Amino acid sequence: MLLDEAHEPVRSGNLDRRKIPPPARVQQISPVGLISLLYAFSLFIFYHQGFISGTSFIGAAAAVLCLVIVFYGLFRLGLNTRVPESSLMLPQLLAALLIMLTVAYLERATQIALVPFMLIAFSFGIFRLSTPSLILLSAGCLGMYLAMILMRGHNDGYFLSFRADLMQWCVLALTLPAMILLGKQIQNLRQLLKATRYQLEHYEEKSIRDELTGLYNRRRLQAELEQARVQADEKDVPFSICLIDIDHFKQINDSNGHLSGDRILCDFAHLARECIRDSDTFGRYGGDEFLQILSHTDLKGAVIHAERLRVYAHFLDFQKVLAQKHISLSIGVAQYREGEKIADLIARADSALYRAKQLGRNRVEWIDLQ
Ligand code: GH3
Ligand code: MG
Repeated sequence: MLLDEAHEPVRSGNLDRRKIPPPARVQQISPVGLISLLYAFSLFIFYHQGFISGTSFIGAAAAVLCLVIVFYGLFRLGLNTRVPESSLMLPQLLAALLIMLTVAYLERATQIALVPFMLIAFSFGIFRLSTPSLILLSAGCLGMYLAMILMRGHNDGYFLSFRADLMQWCVLALTLPAMILLGKQIQNLRQLLKATRYQLEHYEEKSIRDELTGLYNRRRLQAELEQARVQADEKDVPFSICLIDIDHFKQINDSNGHLSGDRILCDFAHLARECIRDSDTFGRYGGDEFLQILSHTDLKGAVIHAERLRVYAHFLDFQKVLAQKHISLSIGVAQYREGEKIADLIARADSALYRAKQLGRNRVEWIDLQ
């Protein structure tokens, strides 16, 4: 028996390409925080041009800085994860809008900046907030804005500037609902896109898997073989394949039932998954035939691996489903010859498998390179 002494790392888990861990999430200032900073910068221009006092600018800038720092801190400490809406969009928007409305009330000149900045702030809320929250928030903002105009009119008199303010309010009252409607449509499209992408990935995954065992199917194995061939030719590294067939499987089916046969195929697939290397590919080639692609492995190495798999499979206990308790494997091994077609490589492994069957089964046979 050709059992290898120097054990290769035997890894459990699935046969998918290694999962790349998601990159560590860098904590950034939230979009609402950025918009608030931009708003503070616009106030600086108002101040610079002499439209607002230095005190108003400093007060507003301090409030914006507080907003940014508080929410950044909450995110940084992970406190946002303790509430259901972890983006904290609603409190962030509320705080930013309150600052804008207060500044607009205290410094009328800044009112022209209010509508565009409010609309931009709302555009972020559209993707995070539910429709009732958005409606409530916009109604609250419009109400506060109107109250501010009326209060100012009451204090300063109902002159032309009051009517101009009212006109600006009307523009906001008309554009805000339209923007929310548009945003919701974009949100619906995004959700549809997400669902379609999920379905596509699901079907893609299904199309490369064998339904019974969950292993790669023949189509995927062919693609993997082609890929291995290209790599071997480019980098001049060897690779080998093992064609594995369960002995007397028809008989097993006949005497124990098709369901028992299925169970054996699944258990064997599971075992193979457990004991092949991460760098190798294993799949169901068809019926009771499996194929293993051993990258960076020459014929001798592949024979050792095949022998190991044969022994492991022999020790699988099928006492509950099989009268004879155990299964045996015949395995044909072949190494890729530079420039040859995949069909030729498989044909050689198949010849080796045929020889293993001819020589009494439960054994590994191979075809030499020359
Ligand atoms: P040998 O030792 O020469 O390989 O003999 P064998 O009986 O295993 O012959 P063969 O490999 O040709 O038989 C394959 C059998 O596998 C025939 C078919 O009924 C059975 N089979 C194919 N697919 C499935 C499956 O999905 N489930 C079950 N239970 N049986 C299957
Ligand atoms: Mg068979």
